Amino acid sequence: MSGKYNFKYHVLESKSEYCTADYGTRELSYSTHHGMDFINDAGHACCAIAVADGEVVAVQDGVDGFDDKVYTAGNFVRIKHESGVYSRYLHLVKNSIKVKVGQKVKAGMALGMEGNTGYSYGTHLHFDINNGTQYVDPLPYLMGEKSFYKTKKPTSTTITVGSKVRVKAGATFSDGTKPFAEVYNTVYDVQLISRNGKEARIGIGDQWTGWMYISDLYLANQPAPSADAAKAVKVGGKVKVNAGATFSDGTEPYPFVYTTVFDVITMSKDGKEALIGIGTDVTGWMYVKDLMSE
Ligand SMILES: [Zn+2]
Repeated sequence: MSGKYNFKYHVLESKSEYCTADYGTRELSYSTHHGMDFINDAGHACCAIAVADGEVVAVQDGVDGFDDKVYTAGNFVRIKHESGVYSRYLHLVKNSIKVKVGQKVKAGMALGMEGNTGYSYGTHLHFDINNGTQYVDPLPYLMGEKSFYKTKKPTSTTITVGSKVRVKAGATFSDGTKPFAEVYNTVYDVQLISRNGKEARIGIGDQWTGWMYISDLYLANQPAPSADAAKAVKVGGKVKVNAGATFSDGTEPYPFVYTTVFDVITMSKDGKEALIGIGTDVTGWMYVKDLMSE
């Protein structure tokens, strides 16, 4: 769709990209468009910037103006990123390119002026992404759904993007909606993690199912937490805290809390909260639903 997007990663210095042609639409009468075209929504030509950290692997400068035969890309910069994808910035103004092949660049670094060189009818930036084999839609990269960076290898006990997970029996979506029963018998991919790290969007492949609290998920390669584990939490028992859970007053615990075995010191009258700690050293009140009996 042409128009404004709420990008995580930017390609124009103004960070006010207005898309005039997306990936997959037809460019003039020429061929399928394998990039996105942007103009600066602030109204004047603007500098193209590195979308993410990387290394400059190709530069072309010296193209004067319109060329539909030899230098269709006009003056351009190509950057290789950590995740193995390449970004390109086309049709830049002659002699405006500020980077050299071999140069390491940081996200936001100025590359050259948005221009009208090569096969171009009007000042704009053509931005494209190549995954090493072919051009792919830049949109998921600009939105932060696909990465320019190497993703950290998930450890066996942490739920991260790409983890295979199952939903704990009885859990609801994070908006409170009750899922269909089959949800509890399905292995899902974690597609996104919320900014606060507490919720995960689960689905299968590209299809998404919904947002769940991470504390309601467990890794598919691990045994299911028993459905009545919560009931087993009792004074004097040993417990672990579910990943992502907060104290019952909403305070966020230090990360070590999720990897520590605690003693249940006492329980609230309604049985819904437990005071955990080590020995008599109090750590805090947690909801019993956020605890797992050891
Ligand atoms: Zn284009």
